[in-house]
Amino acid sequence: MTDKFGRTISDLRISITDRCNYKCVYCRTGNEGAQYAELPFADYLRMARVAVSQGISKIRLTGGEPLLRNGIVDFVRDLAQLRTPRGAPLDIAVTTNGHLLADLAAPLKAAGLSRVTVSMDAVDAALFARITRVPNGYDKVLAGIRAARAAGLDPVKVNCVLLRGFNEDQIIPFGKFAREEGVVVRFIEFMPLEEDRRWSPEIVVRLEEILAEMARFMPLEAIPLAERVQGAAASGMPDAAQHANSETARRYRFADGIGEIGIIAPVSHPFCGHCSRIRITSDGKLRTCLFSLRDHDLNGILRHGRAASLSDEQVDANLAAFLHAAIERKEERHHIGEPGFMQPSRSMVHIGG
Ligand code: SAM
Repeated sequence: MTDKFGRTISDLRISITDRCNYKCVYCRTGNEGAQYAELPFADYLRMARVAVSQGISKIRLTGGEPLLRNGIVDFVRDLAQLRTPRGAPLDIAVTTNGHLLADLAAPLKAAGLSRVTVSMDAVDAALFARITRVPNGYDKVLAGIRAARAAGLDPVKVNCVLLRGFNEDQIIPFGKFAREEGVVVRFIEFMPLEEDRRWSPEIVVRLEEILAEMARFMPLEAIPLAERVQGAAASGMPDAAQHANSETARRYRFADGIGEIGIIAPVSHPFCGHCSRIRITSDGKLRTCLFSLRDHDLNGILRHGRAASLSDEQVDANLAAFLHAAIERKEERHHIGEPGFMQPSRSMVHIGG
């Protein structure tokens, strides 16, 4: 599937629940719970199957907190049965806060999960609790990361959102953490996607600043494209060159060759020009950009098919046509920081990051 700007759409994120067990200060108000429904797994599976038949080769499960959803292991097993039109298995990933990962990492790997990304915004237990507003989470998340590595979900990626005046002192500690724990730490610039309105350009800790701070610990070198393509191919990525080209993170290794970090810089260095992503929310709405002002009611096509007793083939054809039509209208880019920027119609936790 390609959009009108010539971008190939190969990457689908599915939020399988709107619930979350953390209340991260930069993401949620702390007063509100889930706001949107969950669909039965069979419905997500059907949407995924049709999307894969149209060219999706990577699926990431997210939320809310995806590990809260009972049945996720079976769902991953079902996704792992799907094949691209060329007969290749999918790349299946999960983004999680890691709180429940210690017990689930091995079953998820056995079910066919390819990779896991754990969100973690401090490597200091007290600061971690202040950010998540949950006591004693740090040890659980660390155990989850270690269990994921032990289960063979390598390389485990750890995503950290930096906020000025709050956790920007964690840059070097995270560099050390990446090296000690054998994980890839990726810093994400804070985007205006929170439930309450905290974002300002000043809070964003930008790419150059992160690099300069990390260089005080140890110099970094950018990982060349050829090496990234080779790495993606070696890890079984369905289309390694396309994957390496549309990677969101700028990737660096430490000068002594031990440890990798990445920086995802949607604010200071937007990467919309090679965006390959679409998202399905927990209630079955298709979103073509994190900053979409509207969503597309994919689940409505399923509901209509059932109400009108359409054949399975007809419903699948309708879902496919709907996907193509929505992708045709995919936004060219986001407008963060520009005059007239409008907050999207949902915040990150209710879209699926
Ligand atoms: N609960 C799961 C988790 O914690 O990874 C999945 C959902 S969470 C919304 C997905 C990711 O979005 C997390 O890494 C989180 O840090 C990130 N995130 C949330 N709000 C953000 C924002 N305003 N800007 C950048 N990243 C954000």
